[in-house]
Amino acid sequence: MREKQLDFFKQLLTEQLRTLLGQADLTVRGLVDNSETSADLLDRATFESERGTMLRIRDRESKLIRKIQRALENLDDGTYGICEVCEKEIAIERLKARPVTTLCIQCKTKMEALER
Ligand SMILES: [Zn+2]
Repeated sequence: MREKQLDFFKQLLTEQLRTLLGQADLTVRGLVDNSETSADLLDRATFESERGTMLRIRDRESKLIRKIQRALENLDDGTYGICEVCEKEIAIERLKARPVTTLCIQCKTKMEALER
């Protein structure tokens, strides 16, 4: 991959990470705020289900955060955009659509077929 393209993805991923970390922060604050307002049982039930939703969101967020951090590490050590299965370059269009991917479209398709 060319220098210019690497820069592009580095900026994109850094920006995504920053946004996500900001959001994660807000989710945690939401959890804390809510625990103070759950007085009676009904409130608590609502709170529990809200917290469940928030924890699921957080779980998804933290998985994506890890993927982005890994992609940024790969950018630094020069392995970004290389498929981790067949070690071929991943198409730039695929990376633009999904910058955290570590698989080329062929390997991804194969893997999905296996999962089914
Ligand atoms: Zn591959």
